[in-house]
Amino acid sequence: MRDILAEIITKDITGDQAYELINTVVGKFHDGELDGELNFLLGMDNFEWAAFCHAMDLEVLAEWRRTGWPDVCSFCHSNLNFREYGWTIQDDRLRCLNCL
Ligand SMILES: [Zn+2]
Repeated sequence: MRDILAEIITKDITGDQAYELINTVVGKFHDGELDGELNFLLGMDNFEWAAFCHAMDLEVLAEWRRTGWPDVCSFCHSNLNFREYGWTIQDDRLRCLNCL
């Protein structure tokens, strides 16, 4: 198992290398060479994985890991607790589902 975001934070890998690594791990996963949950193989929690699946930029996501997630919608500025879901990612920013 890797911790992709931690490796970006410590600058052990670049964002581009992170995407290559993910492609490799996903490929092995689909070939049946790796067992387990894909997000845990990559060291992402469920929220980070959801953001990544919404095309969130990995370097921005790593920054959120380091400094904490926003607690308001970036578009309408209403309070938002990412742990309760009800959000999506747009342009690498957190957006609530009420202002779609
Ligand atoms: Zn909003």
